[in-house]
Amino acid sequence: MRTQVGIVGAGPAGLLLAHLLYQQGIESVVIETQSRKHVEERVRAGVLEQGTVDLLNATGVGERMRREGLVHHGIELRFDRRGHRMDLHDLTGGRAITVYAQHEVVKDLIQARLTYRGPLVFEVEAVRIEGFDGDTPGIHYRSGGEECEIACDYIAGCDGFHGICRPSVPAGILRVYEKIYPFGWLGILAEAKPASDELIYANHERGFALLSMRTPQVSRLYLQCRPDENVAEWPDERIWEELQKRLETQDGFRLNEGPIFQKGVTAMRSFVTEPMQYGRLFLAGDAAHIVPPTGAKGLNLAVADVRILAHALARRYRDGAAEPLERYSAICLRRVWRAQHISWWMTSLLHRFEGGDGFEYRRQLAELDQVTTSRAAATVLAENYTGIPFELPGEKL
Ligand SMILES: Cc1cc2nc3c(=O)[nH]c(=O)nc-3n(C[C@H](O)[C@H](O)[C@H](O)COP(=O)(O)OP(=O)(O)OC[C@H]3O[C@@H](n4cnc5c(N)ncnc54)[C@H](O)[C@@H]3O)c2cc1C
Repeated sequence: MRTQVGIVGAGPAGLLLAHLLYQQGIESVVIETQSRKHVEERVRAGVLEQGTVDLLNATGVGERMRREGLVHHGIELRFDRRGHRMDLHDLTGGRAITVYAQHEVVKDLIQARLTYRGPLVFEVEAVRIEGFDGDTPGIHYRSGGEECEIACDYIAGCDGFHGICRPSVPAGILRVYEKIYPFGWLGILAEAKPASDELIYANHERGFALLSMRTPQVSRLYLQCRPDENVAEWPDERIWEELQKRLETQDGFRLNEGPIFQKGVTAMRSFVTEPMQYGRLFLAGDAAHIVPPTGAKGLNLAVADVRILAHALARRYRDGAAEPLERYSAICLRRVWRAQHISWWMTSLLHRFEGGDGFEYRRQLAELDQVTTSRAAATVLAENYTGIPFELPGEKL
């Protein structure tokens, strides 16, 4: 098989890249190790920044999101058993976030891809890439028992943190920056009407908790836990009891409880690969970087990467311009590090750190006091939370 861009991975990065390329008249083939059902049901992110929403709408895949997504104009920071609403809309001159599950975005992108008959191969095995340090990149894999090869001009490594593309780059080329946090998140989905219309980020002596939602009937809730926490030790009653404690307020706030139908533990890390390209291989999304989920940036960063990559590839094919592709990594990394900073900052502001004499907790309360009483401090949070602009100052794509 011959194509222009071979895309490894059908997560949000790979599928959106294929869609953006299609709109520019550029051919691509997407391959994915998992089944369609698996990627369409995988529970992950749920908060879309304004820029992500605008891009999905502008490229014709936002119809269901507009109908079913929940637009939020604010979030709550809860500490010392009191809630403080951050009016994102007012602080940013009209920006908002949309709660719409990542797997719904994935479903919409797969549907679009199938509608225009773009090649998308699920359940491939033994994926291998080669030739990207020269002029003959190729992707090899097995599908339905047959050995297959895609010859392409460029390879997009959109295969997530555990994919094969990043490790395929020869040793000594990539530099990795990494920070592992001493905690994780225990996340649940429950058939329970969310007890708040907006997300609540709670700093509590017992640890961080987050109230989020997926639909008006389904709550998404998280508890800070050990990175190696055993979910089996968390029967539903224990989860609800702990959530109620961490989200309590002086005026008697109570969560709505209901059957829990999904539980999982996510370890937290910050991770950046530099550069995000080598020869004709371009890494995008989680294949190149990971953020702790506190700032809700992972999915949005993946979207930003592929928007830049699609633009650079379009310039290459349309005008023969090499420079945008050469600058791909540099342009992405500036935003990636901004997102790393905000994600690390929100994590360190809200989580309980073990040990010490309580200094960290008192410091967090002082910082939260400032964020919720100073318009300047609140604006920094609101601007970053609703989304770092696609084009940063001084940068023209
Ligand atoms: C619990 C949790 C909560 C999160 N919450 C948020 C949030 O609120 N907001 C937010 O913005 N982000 C959030 N994130 C992060 C977000 O889900 C990721 O950043 C996002 O999935 C990145 O998309 P991606 O396409 O780069 O990678 P992935 O979604 O990981 O997709 C990579 C794809 O490549 C496939 N693949 C892997 N190896 C191969 C191979 N060898 N060949 C072919 N295919 C392969 C995988 O099966 C997968 O389908 C959260 C993540 C988790 C785990």
